Amino acid sequence: MIPPIARRFVAGETVASAMDHARQLDADGIGTILNLLGEHYDDRGPADEDAEAYRRLLAELSETDLDACVSVKPSQLGLDVGESVFRENLERVVDAAADHGGFVWMDMEDASTTDATLEAFEANVERYPAMGVCLQSNLRRTREDLERLADLPGKVRLVKGAYDEPADIAYTDKARVNEVFRSDLSYAFREFDGGVAVASHDPEMIDLARTLHDDHGTDYEVQMLMGVREDAQRELAEQGVSVYQYTPYGDRWLSYFYRRLMERKENVLFALRAIVRG
Ligand SMILES: Cc1cc2nc3c(=O)[nH]c(=O)nc-3n(C[C@H](O)[C@H](O)[C@H](O)COP(=O)(O)OP(=O)(O)OC[C@H]3O[C@@H](n4cnc5c(N)ncnc54)[C@H](O)[C@@H]3O)c2cc1C
Repeated sequence: MIPPIARRFVAGETVASAMDHARQLDADGIGTILNLLGEHYDDRGPADEDAEAYRRLLAELSETDLDACVSVKPSQLGLDVGESVFRENLERVVDAAADHGGFVWMDMEDASTTDATLEAFEANVERYPAMGVCLQSNLRRTREDLERLADLPGKVRLVKGAYDEPADIAYTDKARVNEVFRSDLSYAFREFDGGVAVASHDPEMIDLARTLHDDHGTDYEVQMLMGVREDAQRELAEQGVSVYQYTPYGDRWLSYFYRRLMERKENVLFALRAIVRG
């Protein structure tokens, strides 16, 4: 059972709880990106099981009128077991999306996975364009990757980057990452016809996205995490911005919850207050 304090960041352990959450978001005009929690499997078994779970989820979503899609992690689909396992499982998930008219996002993990993730995206997006992949502005290679993806169908999700990477391949200074993120956003709004997802809680970046949309007319959406700036998510949706909430669910919630707590002092205080209140 998920304790109430973790419920801020995780929708629940079951598909039913994730669907309930998606319905609540829908009532506020917010779309849902469902992520079944799980990563870095070293056996094929759980990777195959999660691929199967995504296939069932895509089928179930197609029976609703919710604006909801899925986001998969390469290491959840077996990348640590082998690239061919990941490719097979991704293909199965994309096949299910094609059967049911769903959308598949690919999260981007640490820099050792970037090539395999982009190659797998490229291998699928031509046959099934309702896909998107995440690129991280903290990586020095990202502008070239944006150029590489610009002529393909599909969407790109831009993030600042969640993984600590060495300075020879990444910008490590926060101000520099912000500067590169602004520049990558400008490039993506100019060059991507398929649409740009701005995955950030940073008000400055969201304002910039609005300005770039006004300048270039490019479709865009703002993506934020469950439990983070939810008032802002609702406000943006009310203003007519397309907003999606990244909503994790499943029984492997502990390490995700821990990451969310540790990334911000206020979140630790929130957890401590909840514990003291009982
Ligand atoms: C939908 C989504 C998907 C993502 N997918 C990936 C992925 O696939 N790969 C990956 O590497 N990373 C991913 N990330 C994480 C991302 O790379 C960043 O680590 C994370 O979003 C923090 O950067 P930021 O732009 O939100 O803002 P930050 O740079 O952390 O903060 C900038 C400003 O935003 C505001 N802010 C930020 N957080 C909060 C908060 N909790 N409460 C109130 N205000 C806040 C504050 O004003 C703050 O000063 C994803 C993020 C989102 C939202």
